[in-house]
Amino acid sequence: MQSEIMLRHPRTGELFDSPVPPGAGWPGDPATPDTPRAADAAQVLQLADQVAAIDELDALISVCRACPRLVAWREQVALTKRKSFADQPYWGRPVPGWGSPTPKIVIVGLAPAANGANRTGRMFTGDRSGDQLYAALHRAGLVNQPTSVDAADGLHANDVRIIAPVRCAPPDNAPTTIERNTCAPWIDTEWQLIAPHVRVMIALGGFAWQIALRIAADLVPKPKPKFGHGAVAELGPTLRLLGCYHPSQQNMFTGRLTPAMLDDIFAQAVGLARI
Ligand code: SF4
Repeated sequence: MQSEIMLRHPRTGELFDSPVPPGAGWPGDPATPDTPRAADAAQVLQLADQVAAIDELDALISVCRACPRLVAWREQVALTKRKSFADQPYWGRPVPGWGSPTPKIVIVGLAPAANGANRTGRMFTGDRSGDQLYAALHRAGLVNQPTSVDAADGLHANDVRIIAPVRCAPPDNAPTTIERNTCAPWIDTEWQLIAPHVRVMIALGGFAWQIALRIAADLVPKPKPKFGHGAVAELGPTLRLLGCYHPSQQNMFTGRLTPAMLDDIFAQAVGLARI
């Protein structure tokens, strides 16, 4: 699926199809037209196994087509668009991890939002959750600016990386078990590449907590630590896992999670990571 007319990127003004073809010049696009595309779970596993560097992994993830339902959904959203973004091209592809390739702090999220990261091509960028998250990261000194609007806005990470267990926007924010399993080799490889640098993982919600425990399985004590906002688990001598409610619109609106609570978690992470 591809749009019939090209639209201008809201910051660079360049014209793009929706979804954006690999290597078309989208800001931060890690892929080229020749980047191999995984077409099924076996190919995800095979390609992820061969990766030696983060930029290579980012490129492979960004062109993956292994989950038919998610590919169809992300591209359909990129074509139909939310009314308020109707004049913008949508990324409409999987969203790679964002931030430092050698992070001391890793934030584990869930999956891209249909009109957020699926539109902008960058984790947590362009939606309300991201507004809260990046503002808090800025207050903690982990990014260089308080807003994250689009992939060309000049945002830089300081010792932090954001990763997710599913890279395509799912319908109703609910990937299936098969889709989660299909996508798992990408985050497993990402963890292997960054783990030597990481001192703190922050899990945004209970599901992300389970993912963090899975990818660092060889360091997890028994019984398994339980998720809670503010929970801290020691994973080996040098790694800590912090629990944090997800900064979803609902959690922030209801006050279950406040900006001050986010600040406490990130300040703790910065202290533990000695940034
Ligand atoms: S969810 Fe993961 S495995 Fe499935 S198509 Fe997207 S990037 Fe590929």
